[in-house]
This record gives sequence, structure tokens and C-alpha cells, in this order.
Amino acid sequence: MKTFINSLLLAFIILIANSCSFKKEYKYRIVFLQCCHDDWRNVMNSEMRRELAFHPDIKFEIIESYSDTKKQLEQIKEIDKQKIDLLIISPNESKSFSTAIDEIYKSGIPVIYVDRKTNSEQYSAFIGADNYEIGKTAGKFIASQFKGRGNVIELELEMTSSPAIERNRGFNEAINLYPELNKVATLEVKNIELDINKKLAGTLKNHPETNIIFAHTDFLALSAYRTAQKLGKAKDLFFVGIDAIPVINGMQLVKNGTLNATLLYPTGGAEVIQTAVKILNRQAYNKETKLLTNVITSDNVNIMLSQIQKIKEQQVEIERETLKINDLNKTYSTQGNLLYFITALLTVMVVLGVFLYFLLNEKQQSNRILEEQNLAILEQKNEIEKVSLLAKKATEDKMRFYSYISHEFKTPLSLILTPTEDLLQRKSTDLKEIQLTLKLINKNAYRLLRLVDQFLEMRKLDAGKMELEIGQNDLVAFIKDIVQDFNLKAKQKQIDLQFISPFKEIQFGFDPEKLDKVLFNLISNAFKYTPDGGLIHVSILRNIDKIEINIADNGIGMTPEEKANAFDLFYRGNKNISLGTGLGLALSQEFVALHKGEITINSEKGKGTTFRIVLPIMEVKHLLLDNPVLVSSKNNTEFEEDSALMIENNTQLTFENTIILIEDNHDLNQFLTRKLGKNYTVVATDNAEDGWQEILTCIPDIIICDVMLPGMDGFALTQRVKSDFRTSHIPVILLTAKSQIESQIEGTKAGADDYILKPFNQQLLEEKLKGLVENRERMRRRFSTEVIHPNQVQKGERRFLIEFEALIEKNIQDSSLSVEKLSQELGMSRVQLFRKVSALTNRNVADYIADYKLRKAKILLNDHEKNISEIAYELGFSTPSYFTTFFKQKTDKTPSDWRNS
Ligand code: ATP
Ligand code: MG
Repeated sequence: MKTFINSLLLAFIILIANSCSFKKEYKYRIVFLQCCHDDWRNVMNSEMRRELAFHPDIKFEIIESYSDTKKQLEQIKEIDKQKIDLLIISPNESKSFSTAIDEIYKSGIPVIYVDRKTNSEQYSAFIGADNYEIGKTAGKFIASQFKGRGNVIELELEMTSSPAIERNRGFNEAINLYPELNKVATLEVKNIELDINKKLAGTLKNHPETNIIFAHTDFLALSAYRTAQKLGKAKDLFFVGIDAIPVINGMQLVKNGTLNATLLYPTGGAEVIQTAVKILNRQAYNKETKLLTNVITSDNVNIMLSQIQKIKEQQVEIERETLKINDLNKTYSTQGNLLYFITALLTVMVVLGVFLYFLLNEKQQSNRILEEQNLAILEQKNEIEKVSLLAKKATEDKMRFYSYISHEFKTPLSLILTPTEDLLQRKSTDLKEIQLTLKLINKNAYRLLRLVDQFLEMRKLDAGKMELEIGQNDLVAFIKDIVQDFNLKAKQKQIDLQFISPFKEIQFGFDPEKLDKVLFNLISNAFKYTPDGGLIHVSILRNIDKIEINIADNGIGMTPEEKANAFDLFYRGNKNISLGTGLGLALSQEFVALHKGEITINSEKGKGTTFRIVLPIMEVKHLLLDNPVLVSSKNNTEFEEDSALMIENNTQLTFENTIILIEDNHDLNQFLTRKLGKNYTVVATDNAEDGWQEILTCIPDIIICDVMLPGMDGFALTQRVKSDFRTSHIPVILLTAKSQIESQIEGTKAGADDYILKPFNQQLLEEKLKGLVENRERMRRRFSTEVIHPNQVQKGERRFLIEFEALIEKNIQDSSLSVEKLSQELGMSRVQLFRKVSALTNRNVADYIADYKLRKAKILLNDHEKNISEIAYELGFSTPSYFTTFFKQKTDKTPSDWRNS
């Protein structure tokens, strides 16, 4: 990532640098070594520049040597071959340079000769006027002007340069064609003063016939003209020059009549540049370019001049345009730079964009991965939570299971232990009672055995170790046998018990022990939940592949909730009476499932219940034919005394030590009733609702209540007792198999006064009861000796007494105030009020009212604000004398004595 950013920065810097360093570079560099400096050469130079205006990619440099051969030689040597692409040279001399220039040419740099050449043939191109042609044209022109007759003086340039030689040659050739055209003299001009002013003057004097002067340049012609003028001969002579450059000493001389004609000597500047461009661009070109000449006389000089003027103007225009173009180029270059910069910036931005996109993508991807991981973690968390919830539920189930088990075990155990202890301590031996007790012990021992059996079966089922012991048996006889076991019970309860079978015999493979348990449970359930006089019908049906057994009753039926949970372990429904452990159906279902069958319930609250067992006709795997199945009901003992629970209501309500006993276990209930009945009046019920009604009716001295009860449980009942002011004073002892501290806390919260844990010691229970009764007595005694004031009463009872006293105070003036009226106002019965007040204060209500009036009388008497008869009326006495009698009876003093003492 870091390297990526670094390289990105580098790229950006390079781009910016490139865009900023953008300059217009020349493509080619041409150097022109110009030999001389004169008007003609200036024209050549400016022609070249004009032509170069069309080639802005060429850098052009003119180096002049001012006719100095040595200097030009140095210039040639100084040329840096690395830095030029083409050399143009107009050599000062034809001889001296060839080697130096050849060297350049050989190094690969094209060489163009202009106007003049060297002796060497090592060059790329030559551009120059055809001096021979010029000389010849001059000759022809003169011949034509003078019709082949005349005398000519030729003024030639130094004969070291090729033009001089060529011109001379051409001229001679032309005039030699005309015999009457004589050359008077040929003067080589090296020095104007010497060769023209003197020599020409001399020649003119010597040759007065001379009528024509042909000079190699316009300048020489002008010098000749001046010399002739001095001699007064200028007008007689015909002057012809060469060059015809558009300057004063050129064409102007023709215009103003100084010269008669001049021959155009083209500079070839434009052609040189055109050729150079072709060479550089590797295009075809002419190695030798001869420039054409023209004769300019007074006839055409004006046209020429005006054309030249126009060209000049155009040149100015071109230069202006060039400047403009340069300006535009500059702008273009700036804009180009800007464009480069923007492009660079854009590129960087695009790259950055791509980079950011890449980063974003990467981030999104990592976010996605994180999200996925989060989701996975969340799922795991949920899974763990689920598992922990399951584990929690399993633990709770286990705890519940244990508490159920212990409860179920403790009840029969206490029904064995308590009567046993009772027997051991017994002094008198009432045979009938001993038998009764032993029966109870026996019955509960069997009950324990059955429970243990059931648990073992459950365990086996859970561990998957339960196996079927299938034998071929007559199912009809088998069921009939079981039903018959219930006949006695049916008779007792006047129940119409029937076994209906359209078949005499059905040979069928099943596990008799297990099916016995199933049917036994179903029939005994039917008995439990069918009231006396009802019906229980067991029927059997057969199909090709299955057998159906129905056990139908018209008992109390089940609510949909009960129906849904009936097969759950320990479920005992919402029945107010608890008649079993809630294991039977769960086991039955498992056993039927082992037979690959199905057990279903059809039940309606209040109408009855039908259980249906469907068993597939199975192949007999283990035929135990030689081992006949014994089907017997060992559990019958359980039913011997099983009659509807009755509330022992035979004792009339004496107000001395009444106990209300609420215990749903029938045996325990009966046992305790019997035992406690000796010392207390026992009112027994098997459920809390009935118990509560009994409590309200007789306001007992003590309540003994089981914790686990169908419907309202022991805690709820305790709470109700303690929060109702009619009953709040009654001590509650909870009987519980739950030995856990939690249930004790729960019970204490509800306001229970004591606990007795199952299995309990009978003596301990009786001692506890005694202690509680004595406590009550002590409290009553204390209250009865002292003046009652609510503050002195136990916290829980204060409210009742305050209310009670407030009611007395409210009605104190009412002389007919009765217990009836007070109990009505308190929403209690007369008995309840009586029991409550006497339980709390050991006084009857009338006494309590009298005490209250006495207390108030004493206060009023002490106050001295009211007279005695006023006090008497205020306290509800019909006459003051009745008040005096009452007061004296209680205090042995008359009210006035009390006031004065
Ligand atoms: P156990 O059979 O272990 O001694 P139980 O009879 O209470 O105890 P189950 O046989 O499992 O337990 O029955 C579960 C509950 O289904 C019963 O407590 C009762 O509420 C309800 N029930 C069962 N059979 C009937 C029936 N014939 N009529 C009404 N309710 C029934
Ligand atoms: Mg049952």
C-alpha cells in the first residue's frame, strides 16, 4: 500500500514536471555561413528568413564573415557537428575551404552551397545564378540594343571568384557572335579608386569610340558612370550592370536613368531554404539549381520595383502574421501547458479515484466479512443461549423431578414413620387401633414399592433398556381379568363397570406385565375421576391388522389443557383433588409405544373421558407358552379403603383449640385427624379452597396446611389468611416435603408461623401445636390484664384493633351499640368477630367495648372540661346514673370521686 502511494506521488510529480517543462523545441538547426555583407547578400538573407517563416520548426542562424576568408575558415571549424542538422555556406573563396567543408559533409551533415562553390564535389546541393547565362544575356542584350555594332568596356570582378569568370565567359561568347561589336577593354576591378577612377578614365580617353560599358555589378557600373561623368562622357555611354537589387544602388539606378539596364542576379534565398527543407525531410531535390536572370531596363523597372515593393509589403505582412502566429503559438503553448497540467491532474484524480474505489471495495469486503463473522458469532451466541436455556430448563426439570420424587416418597414415608413411632410410644393397646395403624403402614409400604417400581421403569425407559417380553395370550381373557379386579370397588362406588367384547378369544402377542400396568392405570384413573353412580366401560375391537381397546367413563372429564398435558411426567391436572403421582399415563404411553401402538384421549370437561389404545398385531418373537402369564393386580391394597375423601365435620364448634387441617393425601389426612382429634377439634379438608371456607366459618386457633396442594397451594393460602384481618391472627403451620430453603423463604414471606417437614415426628408436631396454643394463651393473658391499646398488639393485628376501636369510637354515643352491629360494619360474622377479639384479647366483644368506654371516661374525667352527665351521654349511657353505676362497678369509685382523687 505504501509503495503504491509512493509510486503514485512520483507519477504525479513527473506529469506535472512534464507539463510545466513543455517548450516548443526546434526540430532542425541550420547554420548559414554568409561570406559577405552587402545589399545583395542582405536581400538573400531576408529572402531566406521570409521562406523560413513557413517552417517554424527550423532554427536558423546566419554567421557572417565580412569577406574575410580566414574568419570564415575559423567559423567552419567552430561548427559543432552535434548541434547542426544542415550547413548552408556561401564560401568567400572557392579554393581554401574545400577540405574543411568536405569534413563536415562526410560527417553526415548535408551541405548546401549558395551563390558560390568550392572546387570540391562533396556537397549536397548548389543553388546559384547562372553567371555564364547572365554574362551571355548581357552580351545578347547589348548586341540587340546596338544592332550588333559598338565598342564595349567590360568591368569585371576579381577573377578569383567563380561568378566573375563565368560572367566573363558568357559575355565574351555572346558578343563574339557580332564582329562589329568590339570589346575595347576588359578591366578587372580590385580597387575602385585605382581600377575605375584611374584605369577606366584612361581607357575612355584612349578609346573615345567606346559607347557601351558592361560592369559585373551595378555598383561597378555606377562607379564607371561617375568616372565618365567627370570626363563629360556619361551621356554618350550605355551602362549595363548586374544585380538589379531593389535598392538605391540597384534598380533605382535604372529608374533614375544612371544605368541603362541591369541584369537580375537572383539571390536564391527562398530556393536555398526550400532545398534545405527537402533534404532534411528526405524528399527529392535538385542537386544543382540554376537561377534564371532577366534584363531590367527603363521599360520594366517600374513594374519590377512596384512588384518588389508589394513583396516587401507582403513581407511586412508576413512578419506581422508570423509575430501573430508566434503570439498564438505562445498562447497555444501556455494553453497546451495548462492542458497538460489539467490532463496530468485528471489522470492523477482518475488514478486516485481508482485507488479510492479499490480501497472502498476492500473496506466493503472486509466489512462484509466482519458482518458475516458477526452474524456467525450472533448465531453461535443464540445457539449457546438456546443450549443454556435448554440446560437451564433441563436443570429446572431435574430439580422439579427431584422435588416431586422426594415429595412423593416423603408422603408415604411419613405415613409409615409417624404411625410406627406412634405405635412404639403407645402404652395402651387398643387392638382395633393398632390394626388400623398397621394397615396404614402396610398400605403405604406398598405404595412406596409401587413408586419405586414406577421410577425404575421410567429409568429403564429413559436409558432405552426396557424390553418387551411378548407372549401369545388371549387378550380377551387378560382384559376381563383386570376389569374383574375392580368389581368390588365398582360395587362400593355404585359404578356401572362393564367389559364389552364381541370376541370370545383373541390370541395376540403382547407383553402382559406392561399391558397390565397400562390398563390398570387407565381403569383406576377412570375410577378416580368418575363420581359414584357413574359408568366405566372397557371394550375391545379387532381389525385385520390392529386391535383397539377403549376405556370410557362418564366422569369429570378434562379441560383441553389437561388433555394436552395428560401424558406429561408428574402432570396431575388442575383437579382440586390429588389422587395420584402423575406418572401413570406417562408410563402407559411409553409401554404402548413399545408395542408400536398408540394411545389417545377423547375427553370433554364434565362429560367423560375415553382412552383409546391401538395395538398393531405383531409377530410373536418370544413365545413364552410354557410360562403362562400371571396377571394379577398387586396394587389392590391401595383401593381397599379408597373412598371419597370426607371432611370430618362431626365436631360442633367449641371455641377451644380448633385446628383446621388441609392435606390432600388422604391417608395422611385421616391419620392426622385421628391423632390430633384427641386433643383438638380438627376440621379436615383436602384442598385450600375448602380449607379457606372452613377457616372463615370457624376462625380456628391453628391452621395446619400442606404446601403442595392441587389448585391454591399452601403458600397462597397462608398469604390469604395473613392478609385478611379476620384471620390474620391465626398461626399457620406448613407441612412440606420440600426441605429446600427456598420454599421456607417463600413460606416465611407468605407469613407462615412454623414448618413441619415430611416425614415428620408426630410428637414434634404435637409439641409445636402445644407451644403455639400456649403462646396465644400468654398473649391473651397479657392483653386481658392490661388496658388494650393497639400499639401494644402484635404488628399484624394492629390494623384490626385500630379499625375496631375506630368503629367503637364512631358509635360510642349509640346506647344500643351491639356486637351484631359492629360485626356487620366490619364485614365479619358475629362468631368471627367474637373469635377474633377473644383470640387477640381474651375478652368478649361486649367486655372490650366496656373497657374502651371506661378508658375514655377516665380521660374525659381527667380533662375537667365536661361535667359528668355530659360525659355519660357522650359515652352512650342512657342515663348519668347508669354511667355512675358502670364506673363504680369497674373502679370501685364514682366518677366524681375519680375526678377529685
Ligand atoms: P398415577 O397414575 O401415577 O398414580 P395419576 O393418575 O394422577 O397418578 P396419570 O394416570 O398420569 O396420573 O394421569 C394424569 C392426569 O390426567 C390425572 O392426574 C388427571 O388429572 C388426568 N386424568 C387421567 N385420567 C382421567 C380420567 N379418566 N378422567 C379425568 N381426568 C383424567
Ligand atoms: Mg393414574
